[in-house]
Amino acid sequence: MTGSQLRPETLAIHAGWRADPSTGSVAVPIHQTTSYQFRDADHASALFALQELGNIYTRIMNPTTDVLENRVAALEGGVAGLALASGQAASAYSIQNLARAGDNVVSSTDLYGGTWNLFANTLKDQGIEVRFVDPTDPEGFRRATDERTRAYYAETLPNPKLEVFPIAEVAAIGRPLGIPLIMDNTAAPMLCRPLDHGAALVVYSATKYLGGHGTSIGGLIIDGGGFDWEAHAERQPLLNTPDPSYHGAVWSQAAKPLGPIAYILRARVVLLRDLGAALSPFNAFQLIQGVETLALRIERHCQNAQRVADFLAARKGVTRVIHPSQQSGPARARADKYLGGRYGGLVGFELDGGVDAGRRFIDALQLFYHVANIGDARSLAIHPASTTHSQLTAAEQAATGVTPGYVRLSIGLEHIDDILDDLDRALTAAGAG
Ligand code: PLP
Repeated sequence: MTGSQLRPETLAIHAGWRADPSTGSVAVPIHQTTSYQFRDADHASALFALQELGNIYTRIMNPTTDVLENRVAALEGGVAGLALASGQAASAYSIQNLARAGDNVVSSTDLYGGTWNLFANTLKDQGIEVRFVDPTDPEGFRRATDERTRAYYAETLPNPKLEVFPIAEVAAIGRPLGIPLIMDNTAAPMLCRPLDHGAALVVYSATKYLGGHGTSIGGLIIDGGGFDWEAHAERQPLLNTPDPSYHGAVWSQAAKPLGPIAYILRARVVLLRDLGAALSPFNAFQLIQGVETLALRIERHCQNAQRVADFLAARKGVTRVIHPSQQSGPARARADKYLGGRYGGLVGFELDGGVDAGRRFIDALQLFYHVANIGDARSLAIHPASTTHSQLTAAEQAATGVTPGYVRLSIGLEHIDDILDDLDRALTAAGAG
């Protein structure tokens, strides 16, 4: 089923699959195979030469994973997807597919802590400089740009600040310069389609809301197909100069017969081939099960999180509630523009009493799990300053919005009264109200 006219709720269940042609299986089968029998020598040569797209080896592609890739690409309004073993692999490859040693990327400071570490340390060690800028000033991206800038990078709804990124504004700065905006949409599937606002590529940690069940780590890169790589040959050499690792292929040319997929094709047949962060077919299957219920889950996550934000805002001892509904001015305007009036499942808050109160709160929770994840069916809580963000310097923590007493909640799908009862109990134990 192609059906770009279908609505997101329908695409999440149907896109990329109808039934197995040989068995009639309605559920997507788990193709737990490493390899694929070639029809004959000509067929094998055509596949390796990319004259024909087809299955070669599961490190590079797999029929189960293919359904996940096509389904999420359809949901995002993109032309193709690449599933990877984790969200971290997706973030790393999204940059490495455009930038090499000596190049740079301009990124928002408002990032998941793991992405910050990847950018500030590991990519730096590989010779790729990431320049961090304040996302509330889109012009900061232009100012940080030079002739070696290959991409802009940001998160749609970054935690812990939960201030929505100005997607269209920054995309519009990059496009004429030949610089694509890569958006990590992990916290906002179904709420925002960054490609509709001018982003060129979307990155996901599928581990979170796409899966929703907290069983499987996975990541995705979605190619919007609307970025003119060829028109910016000097800016984007990796897609416009002969690739010695692939018989001198120039990706912006070689991909043409297959569609506007130069970026994602190179990511698959060069980066995934060489670096190998392949998603297992079983995890692809699990993530497909999650995506099927994504629309309903997101609706409930948003409703429950809104109730939690209202509850916390009225609670003595809570000095600050971090949720788009509590924002005003430009941040609120961006939340309403890009999330369509629903604000996702994450809520942050700050307790009077700083680190100690935050720790007491975490230890008193009974229903909420104390974990580093977000986007699970279960409600989750964490104290970032002593966990996910503890590797960062105090200045880096401050730049990403983590203060000592900050607690992050990922609100699940339980009955709202049970969620509020648990929060009430833990807040009392922490000395709040
Ligand atoms: N991006 C965001 C916004 C995340 O929250 C995470 C994980 O927490 C990642 C990327 C990394 O994803 P993964 O844990 O699947 O590697």
